[in-house]
Amino acid sequence: MMRDRTERVLFLITIDTECDHDPDWRRSSPLTFHSITDGLPNRLQPAFESVGAIPTYLLTVEVMEDPASVAALRALEGSYEFGTHLHAAFVEPSKKHYDYAGIASPDFQCHLPPEIEHAKLANLTALFEQRFGYAPGSFRAGRYGAGPKTIESLARLGYLVDTSVTPYLRWPHPDGAVDYRRAPEQPYVPCTSDLARPATDGVGSVLEIPVTMQPRWLRAPRWLRPWFSSADQMRSIIGYQLRRHARQRTVVLNMMFHSMEVIPKASPYPQSEDDVRRFIDDMMQVLRWCRELGIEFARTRDVPALLGRRPSTSG
Ligand SMILES: [Zn+2]
Repeated sequence: MMRDRTERVLFLITIDTECDHDPDWRRSSPLTFHSITDGLPNRLQPAFESVGAIPTYLLTVEVMEDPASVAALRALEGSYEFGTHLHAAFVEPSKKHYDYAGIASPDFQCHLPPEIEHAKLANLTALFEQRFGYAPGSFRAGRYGAGPKTIESLARLGYLVDTSVTPYLRWPHPDGAVDYRRAPEQPYVPCTSDLARPATDGVGSVLEIPVTMQPRWLRAPRWLRPWFSSADQMRSIIGYQLRRHARQRTVVLNMMFHSMEVIPKASPYPQSEDDVRRFIDDMMQVLRWCRELGIEFARTRDVPALLGRRPSTSG
């Protein structure tokens, strides 16, 4: 199908799925969940269904604590995956905020003592299991603030995939930056001391699937992400990945964004219904183009098995 030796291209859509925010990235005040109760069932899921795309919704704690959001998620029709997304300040132990309204979330979980980070991940995972009756397989860290200990915890908790790595980017923080500038573009098993580096023996139970980027000389990379990139730019990012990894039998593409981006003013991005329409139009142009090229849509948790690693279980 594709040039050279690539036989299969998998396309993931990984979506941080959270309460509504404000244009300054603080949680909405009062706290609202329009992206869950309206965005997913009425805007995103029907659009994905129309092209056979399979989204992975990575759920935050406040979404799983909100009964109306949980009901909307349980009622969601079609093909999708639910996974988890941690904003560490809102989860026990050492939970910082009990009222989330108006609060920003600058913490990187990798700065926590490893036992605290693990306990937070364990609590988030237990809440997911309690709400949905099965174990989550995919995870992304809030602010992309993951580290090697994150992967160790995810492995202990039975996760199959982490998707916190954003190649070519370094995320500064007063307690220490997270540096993914040299991270691989395609899935890899991270080494135990540096999340941005592959393990030399390739052994580990959690696969890192980086967000898809295209590097640019002396400029920030371009994201495979509606609103950050136009439809033409997203097509060119995909073309770059297919050329660059043409010798790989399977190439994986990972589009990311937030659920709140399809609700006007619930993120710093689309601020009007026209903006949202443009966001969804651009995304759909790219998804339809991918389908015409024979690119396959997949659940994130299924990628390890599709790459011939270990089998994916329930969910
Ligand atoms: Zn987030």
